[in-house]
Amino acid sequence: MTSNESAVDDTASATAADAPISPTFADLGLEGAVLKALDDVGYETPSAIQAATIPPLLAGRDVVGMAQTGTGKTAAFALPVLAQLDVSQKQPQALVLAPTRELALQVCEAFEKYASRMKGVHILPVYGGQGYGVQLSALRRGVHIVVGTPGRIMDHLEKGTLDLSELKFLVLDEADEMLQMGFAEDVETILADTPDTKQVALFSATMPPTIRRMSQQYLNDPEEITVKAKTQTSANIRQRYLVVSFAQKVDALTRILEVENFEGMIIFVRTKSITEELAEKLRARGYSAAAISGDVAQAQRERTVNQLKSGKLDILVATDVAARGLDVERISHVVNFDIPTDSEPYVHRIGRTGRAGRTGDAISFVTPRERGLLARIEKATRQPMEQMQLPTAEDVNVTRLARFDDRITEALEQSERITAFRDIVAHYVRHHDVPEADVAAALAVVAQGESPLLLDPDAEPRTFERDDRRERPDRGDRDERPRRSSGGRLATYRIAVGRRHRVEPRQIVGALANEGGLRRDDFGAIQIRPDFSLVELPADLSAETLERLKDTRISGQLIELRPDTGAPRRRDRDDRGERGFRPREDRPRREWDDKPRKPRHRD
Ligand code: AMP
Repeated sequence: MTSNESAVDDTASATAADAPISPTFADLGLEGAVLKALDDVGYETPSAIQAATIPPLLAGRDVVGMAQTGTGKTAAFALPVLAQLDVSQKQPQALVLAPTRELALQVCEAFEKYASRMKGVHILPVYGGQGYGVQLSALRRGVHIVVGTPGRIMDHLEKGTLDLSELKFLVLDEADEMLQMGFAEDVETILADTPDTKQVALFSATMPPTIRRMSQQYLNDPEEITVKAKTQTSANIRQRYLVVSFAQKVDALTRILEVENFEGMIIFVRTKSITEELAEKLRARGYSAAAISGDVAQAQRERTVNQLKSGKLDILVATDVAARGLDVERISHVVNFDIPTDSEPYVHRIGRTGRAGRTGDAISFVTPRERGLLARIEKATRQPMEQMQLPTAEDVNVTRLARFDDRITEALEQSERITAFRDIVAHYVRHHDVPEADVAAALAVVAQGESPLLLDPDAEPRTFERDDRRERPDRGDRDERPRRSSGGRLATYRIAVGRRHRVEPRQIVGALANEGGLRRDDFGAIQIRPDFSLVELPADLSAETLERLKDTRISGQLIELRPDTGAPRRRDRDDRGERGFRPREDRPRREWDDKPRKPRHRD
């Protein structure tokens, strides 16, 4: 590494322990209106690329930064530009070149956000496809910052409608993309024909030779910034990701909360303001959720963490800073509602689960644009993440029905109260000549209230992203598969997960139904033993289904499904009767009956 290179080491300890203390934005040299705006948008700490780039840019140096979308690179250049802007000068002082119209607009929005506490800053997007009229009149009125695609900027320069003689900052954003899109010549012309005194910041996800040459030729002794990737996550944490658009995140989260078997959960978001907003949405859906961020007083934070420890609270919505060092064994899941800007905070975040030798689950939401960031994190942690699909209405219904069963089973445990009500029900049955099953159904209606028990699969929102890049085998066609002609015979199978793995029946039902194309009616009794579980499934599962199920994982553990040879308990489906209740004495006692769970969700 030469003296001009600096590397941001985002190495975390092998156990993904607590994150190193990061500098604040003020430590980087930012002040006044820019700091206030950052507080408004709720950023707590600079991302790695920001921490490395802002000081040299404020000191007037040129910078070459290796960074992708999602790392916070826009603020890395926008903040120092704004901090050094002379608002009284109306000729363009900063020009940002971006490969696409979308990116140019995004960069403009970011500038507007960070300049919101400054008076009279004018920022203009300039891209092809938009009429010249708007751009010309804005340029005539005076703008401080122009953000545009190279082609259209060149058009303006050739027409003499854009004066860059006073340019102080030139930013090349996503330089490799610009070159790939054939803008090399335009970019070079702009680099060459603007004042020598300007400061240049070049950002690129990769560093092909052309960019290296350009930076040597046109940049003045640039500081090169790369983020060294040497992070490790612990192996007891199952890491998954879900491709989801920004607008779908809350719905996706709600579904995940329904189907995942979580005990305690931390949901990470990027900004302080979103913590409270999301916690409120979850409370409105019946979850016990609270928010913590750097703004929450220490005493309150401690109270909240204690509630999470004791089980009074199940979900914590947090920012990185607020969750630093949090050590709560109950946290079975970490959800990255917003994927972090780097691998280092990622490792720290997911290290909040899988504590004390337990297993843990980490689920990261990734918007289509953030795919590059995902790849970067995977590379840094050297652990691929498993793609998950959004739980379907059917998946949700499977768990809702299992939970419904659980509640009945739990209620049946309360023998004294059952006895009292049994007489009342019997009285009703005698006097109204109604079958007992109908009375039970009527009581379920009362218990359920207005909201439907099940989601309507036909009313699935069409807009949910389905990412087919790594499709799960056989998943798509499971509904088209012919029904088996087993005549309903069930056999007992053994799976290698048990109470020790914190497994619960609805997880087993969910996983086997998903992977084996099974339906709810295919399941008989489930017994959870300390080290393994016994599950009744159709006796004639095909070799192919058996093979697939063998490789299924529950709570990160291979289930190695096989017919149970130990104590086979074969029973005809007909013995079991239709779905519903058998008298208590001939119902095999299911282990899950004695595991009371507080209902987490208001059905
Ligand atoms: P970018 O890489 O510039 O596209 O930024 C990715 C996302 O991270 C944007 O939504 C930013 O608003 C957000 N972001 C940037 N810097 C920070 C920060 N220091 N803290 C939290 N969020 C940030």
